[in-house]
Amino acid sequence: MTEFPQLNGFRGGGGIIRLIGHRGARGVMPENTMEGFAFTYRIGVVAFEFDVVLTRDQIPVITHNHRLANAATRAPDGNWKTGAEPKVADLTFDELQTLDVGGLDGQSEYGQRFSDQAFMSGVRIPRLCDLLDMAAQPEHADMHLLLELKSDPDIKDDTSARAQVVASVVQEVRKRHLEPRTVLHSFDWDLLDECRRQAPEMPTSYLSELPGNVDEPGEDSATLVGPDYAAMTVSVPQAIKDAGGQMWCPYYMDVTPDLVSEAHALGLLVSTWTVNDKADIEAMIDAGADGIVSDYPGRVQHCLLNRGMHWRDGGA
Ligand code: MG
Repeated sequence: MTEFPQLNGFRGGGGIIRLIGHRGARGVMPENTMEGFAFTYRIGVVAFEFDVVLTRDQIPVITHNHRLANAATRAPDGNWKTGAEPKVADLTFDELQTLDVGGLDGQSEYGQRFSDQAFMSGVRIPRLCDLLDMAAQPEHADMHLLLELKSDPDIKDDTSARAQVVASVVQEVRKRHLEPRTVLHSFDWDLLDECRRQAPEMPTSYLSELPGNVDEPGEDSATLVGPDYAAMTVSVPQAIKDAGGQMWCPYYMDVTPDLVSEAHALGLLVSTWTVNDKADIEAMIDAGADGIVSDYPGRVQHCLLNRGMHWRDGGA
């Protein structure tokens, strides 16, 4: 297997389990915002998972859902958006910049899921290049990026549009020479094939969620773009290995110690998402995961420190 330097930032072992801030630190700061990323780095987290979608004018921006959630979006007049939720792909970057994503509507189901999240005003959806510029600063040389390409089910059969998504992302990463610290990540395993074609210098990370798990409220479902697990004749780690991947990112409810061992024997790294409760964090540490993706990085820090472990090279 080709060795990728990027993987060093995601490999566990020797008393280290990598702590990967989910959308920054969604539990405590507005998700996928520069304010959230700055906070996350400030508390000592150096690996970031975040989501990239293209605007109508083909600018990669950092946001999770294909449609802007009313529960997380305020109009220029300061009121929560109502009515049909627009697609990011139908809006220009300038149009997106009129919206405030610095808080959650506490009356909404999504807002109630994250009731500890700080409420801020004047917060904008960032461009991918804004976070890449941060990572490229010399003082952030230890930042590692788990860059999720969101796959739009509406263009699942549009080969050239899908290739454009990958090209737009890869171009921004290469422009800042961040390939050695970036892993490309998706639920859409076919899109990861395209990533490998266009950017063989970056490893690929395969997200999975087995059928039967319940989608989380307020989130785009991954089931429309993922592989057909029922049709698989081998284990998920073996399928990822066969596809050419280097990392497996399973939903934490799907993780067993045996599957982690199998993945490791195949040469894959394992980072699991989105692990927020203390008992689940402890279970993922026990299972031998290399990395834990969490909305509450402080909780993972506490669990690791209590065991004499750490989340990054050199310790605190
Ligand atoms: Mg993601």
